[in-house]
Amino acid sequence: MSSSKFDIVISGAGMVGTCAALALAGKGYRVAVIEAAPRENDKLNDETYDLRVSAISPRSRHILDQLGIWQQLDSKRVCYYEQMHIWHQHGAASVAFDAVDLARDNLGAIVENRLLQQTLYRACEREVKIEWFMPDSIETLLENHAQGVELRLSSGLCLTTELLLAADGRNSPTRHLAGIDVQAGQYRQTAIVANVDTEFAHQFTAWQRFLSTGPLAFLPLANGQSSIVWSCDDDQVGQLIDATDDEFCDALAEAFEFKLGRVKSCSARMSFPLGWHHCEHWLKGRVLLIGDAAHSVHPLAGQGVNLGFSDVETLAQLIGERSETIPQKQLRRYQRQRKSETWVAGTGFGVLKWFYGLDQKWVATARNLGMRVVDETPWFKRTIMEKAIQNIT
Ligand SMILES: Cc1cc2nc3c(=O)[nH]c(=O)nc-3n(C[C@H](O)[C@H](O)[C@H](O)COP(=O)(O)OP(=O)(O)OC[C@H]3O[C@@H](n4cnc5c(N)ncnc54)[C@H](O)[C@@H]3O)c2cc1C
Repeated sequence: MSSSKFDIVISGAGMVGTCAALALAGKGYRVAVIEAAPRENDKLNDETYDLRVSAISPRSRHILDQLGIWQQLDSKRVCYYEQMHIWHQHGAASVAFDAVDLARDNLGAIVENRLLQQTLYRACEREVKIEWFMPDSIETLLENHAQGVELRLSSGLCLTTELLLAADGRNSPTRHLAGIDVQAGQYRQTAIVANVDTEFAHQFTAWQRFLSTGPLAFLPLANGQSSIVWSCDDDQVGQLIDATDDEFCDALAEAFEFKLGRVKSCSARMSFPLGWHHCEHWLKGRVLLIGDAAHSVHPLAGQGVNLGFSDVETLAQLIGERSETIPQKQLRRYQRQRKSETWVAGTGFGVLKWFYGLDQKWVATARNLGMRVVDETPWFKRTIMEKAIQNIT
């Protein structure tokens, strides 16, 4: 059985895994990337935008910029948003955030996941320090101790490494193989996503209306459409998915209070059950978690992949340029730092989702008062915005 040695092995070539591969290869490490899914068809369709998009924060943009990725994105497909408007179904109060108040050009950008993913892939393929194992996956961990990990792939190959990064998503098989426990729960909600044409222009604004059944977001796309993320209770989903396009568009426009007028047409719809998870330990032996393998949060604040990019940035900074060995102390520091930051974010979004879902009259009054105070207190509003664009640190 042949065996290859790498400084770092990454399981999972999603947005976070590929970003980690690039960041660490850039520090001089020899990296292996293992991806279970076969490579996707390269071509992005000019007419149709990917249904999965992400709101990318300025901090994440900076991370991608440093790696030379942001510059390589097709700029015609990136939509910067300058304002954010949030309000609730019950009550007249709302909060409006404006990039101008932070002396910035924008508050973030909406990018198709596939565009970002492909750009990261291509950059990894050009990097000589990165080797691909795809489609392949880890079958078993033969050894996992303080000096490193030895693993066998489904293809039969054996790899040894000083550090194994689990970047294989929320159900992370690598986390499972390493025996790392996870605390997880369901929101009993499903997010429906689609791209829609609206009567009025999106005004480069990210809109979010909180309904008692869950938040509904309209995110601006570069082609003038809006990407919607409609989080609704599980018992509501079937009806919305099975509705005809006309019925869905009408229900959507009404749920959105006709803020952008009628919804004229919609793409196919996709749905994602919503849950959260958090791990007590992110490090076991020499297996370390990053991205959704370590944490997942409600999409209402659009922070999941942003938190993952921050994981990568912190890890790369802490372990630094390649030298003799990767110090265990630095991996523990990574665990401590990122765990507390993502815990604050995850708990915060969970509480927000719960609070905005309550229907009692006194809660609605308190919520409206709170939104009014935030909206009319510039320093407070600025503080909240600064936190959001820095991925809640
Ligand atoms: C509706 C919705 C909207 C969202 N909107 C936003 C947003 O606006 N902004 C934001 O920041 N986040 C958002 N998120 C969250 C974001 O999509 C995730 O946080 C992000 O995709 C996680 O990336 P990842 O690379 O960690 O994991 P994944 O994207 O899950 O990638 C994991 C990779 O590992 C591979 N893999 C799986 N098993 C194996 C195995 N055994 N071996 C090898 N490879 C394997 C998979 O094929 C995949 O390529 C949203 C999520 C949802 C559901």
